[in-house]
This record gives sequence, structure tokens and C-alpha cells, in this order.
Amino acid sequence: MAKYSSKINKIRTFALSLIFIGFIVMYGGIFFKSSPILMMTFMLLGMLCIIASTVVYFWIGMLSTKTVQVVCPNCARQTKMLGRVDMCMYCNEPLTLDPNLEGKEFDEKYNRKSN
Ligand SMILES: [Zn+2]
Repeated sequence: MAKYSSKINKIRTFALSLIFIGFIVMYGGIFFKSSPILMMTFMLLGMLCIIASTVVYFWIGMLSTKTVQVVCPNCARQTKMLGRVDMCMYCNEPLTLDPNLEGKEFDEKYNRKSN
């Protein structure tokens, strides 16, 4: 069980769950058929979740242009990394672009030390 996963994968999971939440909320509106206002509110909330997820997907697209392509030393596959430290998308091998951090234990807080 990996504690961390690649950032892009994490955001993607978030966007996908937003779509599901959106549909569940919209579906929930059906139970309020008797009250058109409540039903409309649920439908709108659901729509908002789905719109938000599209925005997040767009954001992933923007982020992807800033990623660095590296070959993972563990599984030899090409993966994308974001920031100074990230995980391999396939095997969750910690990766770093900073030679000073090499060999150190993986810690996402290294990303917060801005350049
Ligand atoms: Zn890997």
C-alpha cells in the first residue's frame, strides 16, 4: 500500500470522483420530485460538480505541459513528474529532480520549498 501516489493521478482521481458525486447528487434530486425547487437545487448542484470536474480535467491538461518526462529507474517506463519530487505513475517509485534530495526519504513537503 503506497502512502503517496503520483500527483497527476491524484488529481485525476479527484476529477473522476467529482463526476460520480455530480451524478449521485443529480440522481438524489429524483427523490424530491414533489418539490420542484429542491429537485432543481439538486440538479444544479450535480451540474456544478460535473462542471467543476471538467475544470479540473482542464487544469490537469495545463499541468501536464509543466511536467518533466523521466524514465523511472525502477520500472524503466516513461513517466511524468510534477515539482521537485513526485512518484512514478506506474510503480510509485519516488523520483526527484534535485540531486541533493536523492536517497532521502520521500517527502512531499520538499515541493513546498519554492524555487
Ligand atoms: Zn516506475
